Amino acid sequence: MDVSNAPGQSYTIKVQGYSSEGEFMADVVSFARALRLGSVFDGSKMQIDEAFGKSVTSSILCMGSEFVVVDSAAGNTPKRVIQLAAAPSVRDGRMYLPVTQACRMFSLWLGRSVRYDSGSNRIEAALAGRSMSGKLSVGVLPSGATERPGSALPAASSSSSSPTGKTTVNDIRVETLANGVVIRFSASGRKRPASFLRPDKQGTAYLTIENVDGQSKSLARTFADGIVKSVNPVSLGNGAMQFNIVLDTAAFAIKSSSFRYDAAKNDYVVSIMSDVDVDAIRRAEKERLIQARLSDDIDKWKLDAVVIDAGHGGKDPGAIGTRGTREKDVVLNVALDLGRFIKQKWPGVKVIYTRKDDRFIPLKERGKIANRYGGKLFISIHCNAIAGKRKYKIRGPEVYILGPHKTDSALKVAMLENSVITEEENYKESYKGFSDEYLIMSSMAQSAFAMQSTELAQAVLGRFDRKGSTISNGVRQAGFMVLWTPSMPSILVEAGYLSNPDEEKILRDRKSQTKIAWSIFQGLEQYRSSYERRMMASGYAK
Ligand SMILES: [Zn+2]
Repeated sequence: MDVSNAPGQSYTIKVQGYSSEGEFMADVVSFARALRLGSVFDGSKMQIDEAFGKSVTSSILCMGSEFVVVDSAAGNTPKRVIQLAAAPSVRDGRMYLPVTQACRMFSLWLGRSVRYDSGSNRIEAALAGRSMSGKLSVGVLPSGATERPGSALPAASSSSSSPTGKTTVNDIRVETLANGVVIRFSASGRKRPASFLRPDKQGTAYLTIENVDGQSKSLARTFADGIVKSVNPVSLGNGAMQFNIVLDTAAFAIKSSSFRYDAAKNDYVVSIMSDVDVDAIRRAEKERLIQARLSDDIDKWKLDAVVIDAGHGGKDPGAIGTRGTREKDVVLNVALDLGRFIKQKWPGVKVIYTRKDDRFIPLKERGKIANRYGGKLFISIHCNAIAGKRKYKIRGPEVYILGPHKTDSALKVAMLENSVITEEENYKESYKGFSDEYLIMSSMAQSAFAMQSTELAQAVLGRFDRKGSTISNGVRQAGFMVLWTPSMPSILVEAGYLSNPDEEKILRDRKSQTKIAWSIFQGLEQYRSSYERRMMASGYAK
């Protein structure tokens, strides 16, 4: 290889080479020496250092890889990558590149023109701009080739052989996703060959697009947060633009990366997947939603409204005692007294009555009223009655929660209290689907409140004067329809048996009615304080 430079210096370096499928394979070490570059070769990897002027960068070639990594000697600038059309091969202890690719590598790396003319078998390199001044021409002449000086030199790279039409990268957009980022290089003009190199250990990935307009240089981007720290365009000469994509590998573990060309949008798309557990993100999001809903619910269940339901009314008298005491009158008094206690003792708590006078309210309507006014507790007040011989014997208060019938007597109470539906107009329409199965289902829907309802029922029953009561266990489950629709802890209080003359005497007494109301209120108060303690313990109380 004859080497000459413009000021008249010349020298000759022997370059090993061979011909393969019509291409001249040049020994990279010889080529580097012709350009006054130093090289180290370990048998599979070669490092070439800039030896003229200041040593700034090294070019690293690996056998079998078409990617050449250009690294700064000081390690203070991001690596960049040059993609060649062919990988270097090793033969007899030397590394060879097709001469076109060697030219491409040196010109892209050093940022100056190193071009090969296949017609003349001549390489011309303009090495100005570094510490060398003037123009250095390097000729590579395989033995037997005839030099034809002055001939036109085509572009060095085979990929730049069709330069019709202008391609410009107009914009770089980073779209942040849950598990990574998508970087879109939006281009106009015709599609160009592009290559992508995955992030290196320092976290820099490289996208090279051939034959793009130099305007693209103004596209440098930096990002304050996220996976992508910066995107820096570097002109590689010959129109190739390399985008150095610097990733924040300290904050994000990079799982994988990929490149594709989006023909519909003329976008060159790089996807960087960070090493995050997508399922974990989904789980966290679900938990967050549940927590949000839960705190909504907690707020919703703040004990700020109590629904008091006086049983029966109007055309429905309920149970009637031996002295003619009507259930509807007893329970209305108890209900109004209870409401008064709540208003006195719990300022700020709303009291909702399903009825405040002697009027008929359909059963279904009672639950609706409770829900419509945002009740947080539902207290239905009744008096019991029993037919037959035992009616003089059985007495005592009972408190029911909604649920499947557990005992025959609970079933009977349920039947008695539910019997009112026949008095309602269009009851078949209104209570269509009201069956044991439906009760069980609605009871399951109520199960969220079952614990609270049971606690409330026990608290209320515990405050009753149960002297003389024949009822051994006063908290029961029964499928009362009145407890069917309220979406809140609900109880049904049977204040006593009107069928028992002794108890009827107590139940019809106005003072006793107030005492019953006071007992119910004390039960509510006990329930409320333990409810608030629970809220406090779970950190929801204010
Ligand atoms: Zn009743």
